[in-house]
Amino acid sequence: MPTDARMLMAVRVVVVTTLVLAALIIQYTVREVLPINYLYTTAAITYGLTLVYIGVGQLVTSRKINLAVQVAGDLVVETFLVYFTGGLDSPFSFLYLVSIITASMLLYRRGGLLGASGAVILYGALGDLMYYGVLPLPEQSWFVPTPWTSSRLYLNMATNFAGFYAAALLTSYLSEKLKKTSQELDANRQNLAELRALNQNVVESIPSGLITLSPDGVATFINPAGCFILRRDPQSVIGSPVAQLGFYAENEWEHARETLTVGTVVRNEKQDVQIGDELRTLGFAVTPLNSIEGISSGYTLIFQDLTDMKTLEAELRLKDRMAAVGELSAGIAHEIRNPLAAIAGSVQVLKKSAALNPQEQRLMSIILKESERLNKSIADFLRFVKPQEKRPAEFDIAASLAETLELLRNSPELSAGHTIEGEIVPPTYTIVGDADQIRQVFWNIARNAVQAMPDGGTLRVTTFVIADRYNIVFSDNGRGMTEADQRRLFQPFRTNFPSGTGLGMAISFRIVQEHGGRIEVSSHEGAGTAITVSLPALARVRNAVA
Ligand code: ADP
Ligand code: MG
Repeated sequence: MPTDARMLMAVRVVVVTTLVLAALIIQYTVREVLPINYLYTTAAITYGLTLVYIGVGQLVTSRKINLAVQVAGDLVVETFLVYFTGGLDSPFSFLYLVSIITASMLLYRRGGLLGASGAVILYGALGDLMYYGVLPLPEQSWFVPTPWTSSRLYLNMATNFAGFYAAALLTSYLSEKLKKTSQELDANRQNLAELRALNQNVVESIPSGLITLSPDGVATFINPAGCFILRRDPQSVIGSPVAQLGFYAENEWEHARETLTVGTVVRNEKQDVQIGDELRTLGFAVTPLNSIEGISSGYTLIFQDLTDMKTLEAELRLKDRMAAVGELSAGIAHEIRNPLAAIAGSVQVLKKSAALNPQEQRLMSIILKESERLNKSIADFLRFVKPQEKRPAEFDIAASLAETLELLRNSPELSAGHTIEGEIVPPTYTIVGDADQIRQVFWNIARNAVQAMPDGGTLRVTTFVIADRYNIVFSDNGRGMTEADQRRLFQPFRTNFPSGTGLGMAISFRIVQEHGGRIEVSSHEGAGTAITVSLPALARVRNAVA
């Protein structure tokens, strides 16, 4: 049985039972027999009908039919009550209204009108039958019967009927409206839930960081990607002013805010943002957040970590530049070499002439010695600059490193104040690559370290293996580099060393890259430098010579 049919039954039983109990109590207190037997009869009929309704409920599941049966039963019971309490004189005719209102509420317009019509028929029939004496007047003791004129009958009928229909129409109008509104509300609620879920999904799954800011610049929300990029948890971000998030300094934010009006976007890039213990580059855009009413309700800050992209960009630029420079300088070097050979050859012939005095002989020797030196420099230069063909083979990188350090220990550049410490673990490690070129890289880096410590110091070389990559760290306590020097370290022809060419690191960079490795710098001015080279054990060595 539907819930509201059951409910209606329960309410009816409760009301009737309460009435009966009240009547019993009154009767008991006044200690006289009141003429209210009809009340007990009505209650009995109601209880009996309730059993019938339960039976109907078992047989029929339709909500409408269950409710209609109950309303019809009520109308009949009410008619009995009205008859026993004096027909037109009965004060209980209002009960019809209760049933009509119930029907209108539960069964809407049609139910209400049917209920009202039922009441009109029953009440009308009762009145007529009693008026024309077909039904005898029940015994009365406390209602004073009034004379029944025909005009009174009609007036009574007319007002009651009008009341019945009016109640049915009004109530059903209201309950229908209510039904529609609650349906709409349900639909809206559903839409809202879907929209919210969509919103949540979008915000949670975009790969960019998203922070919303209140109008005074305090973070009110951050998405998971944002937490990941900033390496902070939501609690530590929400509630912090924007100046503490690393995107803006206080005054920059004030400035940005002034330029942010409805519909504008301010894009920005910030280098060296401290994230965890790293400095990273963030790209971000701020837009004003407008509520539906068009009032500014804060800002959204969308951001990305551009560090890796920037590094890649810089590497590509460097490679381009190095290729161009290499070609150009190789060309120039060749152009110098040919006339140099001619000069040297001519001087050689002249030197053999007997007409020269010893002073002239000495000058000739200087020319020959210096041209030889220049020729050697150019040869070196060409070897460095022109990408050499690689002969990749398996070799022991740890042994190569140890050899290079030994060579450096015996080099004339080393003074008494220099110490070279090598901690090479594991002591043998095989990789695939061009051993000569890798040795060149070690030599370049180690020599730089020594040159960066003109007054002596310690070069420490440590190695470790992670995930099939051999990593070598060269750390010195020399003069270090400025931020700008670090950025330009791998660019050719940038030198700060007295006899430097600015090519060592550029060449090392290229060699390491062609071996599928990485080279990184970390330096503090005045404190020292650490250069880390990381080489894969099984690199597919790229050959730059086409
Ligand atoms: P060069 O040694 O011919 O100057 P490099 O390419 O080897 O060229 O080095 C470029 C520049 O980088 C050096 O001139 C020096 O200023 C700087 N540099 C390289 N290594 C170090 C280091 N270990 N400490 C300080 N500065 C260094
Ligand atoms: Mg060098």
